Amino acid sequence: MKIYCLSLGCAKNKVDSECLAGELERAGHSLVSDVEFAEAGIVNTCGFIQPASEESIAAILDLEQLRNEGKLKIVGVVGCLVNRYSEDLIREMPSVDFWAKSEDWASVIRSLGGIPENSRYRTPLPSSSKFTRYLKINEGCSNKCTYCTIPSIRGELRSLPIDTLISEADQLVKEGAVELCLVGQDLTVYGTDLYGKDSLIELIDKLENSLPKDIWIRLLYLHPSRINLKLLERVASGTQVLPYLDIPIQHADPDILYAMNRGILPEELSSIFTTARSINKDFALRTTCMVGFPGEKKQHFDKLLDFVSKTRFDRMGAFTFFPEEGTEAEKMKGQVTETVKKKRLNKLMALQEEISMERQELFVGRVMDVLIERVDREVFFAEGRSFREAPEVDGLIEIRNISEKIKEGDMVKVKITEAMPHDMVGEELK
Ligand code: SF4
Repeated sequence: MKIYCLSLGCAKNKVDSECLAGELERAGHSLVSDVEFAEAGIVNTCGFIQPASEESIAAILDLEQLRNEGKLKIVGVVGCLVNRYSEDLIREMPSVDFWAKSEDWASVIRSLGGIPENSRYRTPLPSSSKFTRYLKINEGCSNKCTYCTIPSIRGELRSLPIDTLISEADQLVKEGAVELCLVGQDLTVYGTDLYGKDSLIELIDKLENSLPKDIWIRLLYLHPSRINLKLLERVASGTQVLPYLDIPIQHADPDILYAMNRGILPEELSSIFTTARSINKDFALRTTCMVGFPGEKKQHFDKLLDFVSKTRFDRMGAFTFFPEEGTEAEKMKGQVTETVKKKRLNKLMALQEEISMERQELFVGRVMDVLIERVDREVFFAEGRSFREAPEVDGLIEIRNISEKIKEGDMVKVKITEAMPHDMVGEELK
């Protein structure tokens, strides 16, 4: 059967979608990039926060519409939204042909009349980048931050064995990957369940020893409470692991951090970033912040502003607290009004915009290795990313006056000529 698979949500869900695609292909189905050419439509949903749940519902309704128009024979819904709301969904959307929880690909194959192989094998989706691939090293989370639904949706921490990850990384490189982004809910706890000890450094060692020397390794989602000097020095000394650290702080006020159950104090947070910059001043530091957490008063928010002002992050994602159904924080006293949340978010992002610009300007005049992601030959223009830009969440480098031979997936030397808060402009060194 020709199947259209829509992958929503985060990079971890994208890996799940590729595992589902692998099972579908092994069962004799083929993936199509356009739903117009499909016989069946499957949406791998996200249910992490309300807006994501709404986006998933809208995608399901779109597929149902196509089925009602006779353009699709079968509609299937899988993933996090099913984990979170299966009973309600099945009751309220009776015309969906099959449902499956995350990673239960065997039931999808059976629903399509096949016999599942139950072997972990990934196939890139037509929408997947060929050159940048995600390697999911663990799933689930046991940290239990009070605002987060992930532990209830994806369960406790489950790390994948190192050997499985090494052979999967090898497969992704054989398929053309030049950048591997390691993802999980929290990379720092990798292996604590499986091997009874932090094993992230061991995994990085084995990846660097087994992969071709020009492959980039990028670490995403590092919980600050388990970051130590050893890990920072290992990342800084890496030959392939990039000097890029994605460390969500969420906040910087001790009372708010405590109420969030982040398990860390502001001074400990601060020492992570000062230590990182003392080891390598070019470390690209990305973080995520949440404003408007229950009980957050102006003085708490000011502490966050002060922390951000002192730390000088390169990149920041920020969002307002939302009382997600079923979380501890949903029932907490001192809920902040939407107006105040928005005002604080704007103030924080305005501060970060200036800081990002200042950090970007440090690279003007420098020559960077850039992974080419898009080439427009008509105007001799290309776009790409250096170690400082993670895929999908950070800015891009625009390269002008490119040479004839340049193509997507190439790693080229680019001299940076101009900086903007999120993007940079440069010229290819010919
Ligand atoms: S570490 Fe991340 S995924 Fe885990 S509970 Fe906290 S916010 Fe959620």
